[in-house]
Amino acid sequence: ILKRSGGRWKLNPQQLLEKSKKYMWLPFTQMSDYERDPLIIESGEGVVVKDIYGKEYLDGNSSLWLNVHGHRKAEIDEAIRKQLESIAHSTLLGAANVPSVLLAERLINIAPEGLTRVFYSDSGATAVEIAVKMAYQYWQNKGRSEKTKFVTLSNGYHGDTVGTMSVGSIDLYHKVYTSLLFDALVVPFPAVYRHPSGDAQTVCNESLQSLRELFEKRHSEIAGLTLEPLIQGAGGMNTMPRGYLKGVESLCREFDILLIADEVATGFGRTGKMFAVEHEGVRPDLMTVAKGLTGGYLPVAATLATEQVYDAFYGEYEEMKTFFHGHSYTGNQLGCAAALANLDIFERERLVEQASDKAKLLSELLHDLGELDHVGDIRQCGLICGIELVQDQKTKVPFPFKWRVGYRSTLKMRELGMLTRPLGDVIVFMPPLAATEEQLGEMVRILKEGIVWATTFQYGATTN
Ligand code: PMP
Repeated sequence: ILKRSGGRWKLNPQQLLEKSKKYMWLPFTQMSDYERDPLIIESGEGVVVKDIYGKEYLDGNSSLWLNVHGHRKAEIDEAIRKQLESIAHSTLLGAANVPSVLLAERLINIAPEGLTRVFYSDSGATAVEIAVKMAYQYWQNKGRSEKTKFVTLSNGYHGDTVGTMSVGSIDLYHKVYTSLLFDALVVPFPAVYRHPSGDAQTVCNESLQSLRELFEKRHSEIAGLTLEPLIQGAGGMNTMPRGYLKGVESLCREFDILLIADEVATGFGRTGKMFAVEHEGVRPDLMTVAKGLTGGYLPVAATLATEQVYDAFYGEYEEMKTFFHGHSYTGNQLGCAAALANLDIFERERLVEQASDKAKLLSELLHDLGELDHVGDIRQCGLICGIELVQDQKTKVPFPFKWRVGYRSTLKMRELGMLTRPLGDVIVFMPPLAATEEQLGEMVRILKEGIVWATTFQYGATTN
């Protein structure tokens, strides 16, 4: 197999596995787990990826929520090749380049009303880091230097850099770094599943009320509020009750606080609209995009800003309003060319509408899972799903942490031919937008089998 991939690697799979164990340190991975069950992907086609032994897997998480069309989309391959004929990269510091200009226009044309400027970067985290710095400096440039604090929602996730962890709020990932991070003001996420009322409207009202109380007390110190619109990703796939997002927007306007919508995961059709904020007609002051922007090909991200934000940075050099920020690969030509081709496909294949239809189908397919004994909650927003496994459906008591039920069920799914990731005992399911009806059905069948296997396993006998 390895010899076939261009003849460059004269290794057998075993040698490659040994090297990977010896030299690699993988993200969000306990390496002792990896050493027990190593996986190395060699190729992909459509929604299927193949490992170095030739075993095929459905890409149930779109390769960490990126590969909208699956793999090896001919037009994107071609766009990158064509771009290579002119130039692969030149810096954006003090200069623009052709595909980055064209992409900026395309992004503004599809973005929610009010966003008029595109600032490029190279990952979701850098895009959010930039939004946070922009919001902070915006108020400094406006002479409101007391507005320095950020508000975030409990269980929020915006990336793994120090600034984005500061506006994040997931103990498992962030607690160890506490003294390294700046303090953000955390308000409760409107989570319905374990709320005593179980009523979405009550939860929505309560959460908005606590945000109002915070703003009333401290608005003069608050620069911005960050949130993942409609559904939190890494924090457990938590969906917001309808109306919450709009309510937050109104409060931000009322108290003069910049609204930062992190659309890194939700953008590009995932929720059934191009951007999640569109579902409630929300107009953020800053919006971040990444993941699906290049269809999962190359690391391009962007922070979109309103003219009002942009204007606060505009002036003569001596005024010191400049935004001194920029990464080496910002606005990379190959990446921007891939993104342009990606957006062409969105338009031509009417992918957002398709995603919306597929979301309805998926919701029917997932319905059956709710009948399994240990499925506590199925949270879905378009083609973003989280399935929470619990020990007891009635009491919602979780499984013991050390049983690692979520992790085990995803290992089983892998054996059955689908790749997914757990977030604790929440199974993340984010199929490519291009998955067919048949493929979605097969993915849900594997989800079910993996869940049944892991939740009925006799843990007591082997793990206590
Ligand atoms: N924001 C959100 C909402 C995300 O889901 C993620 C990544 N999962 C990020 C930011 C960070 O993106 P990246 O991994 O590209 O840095």
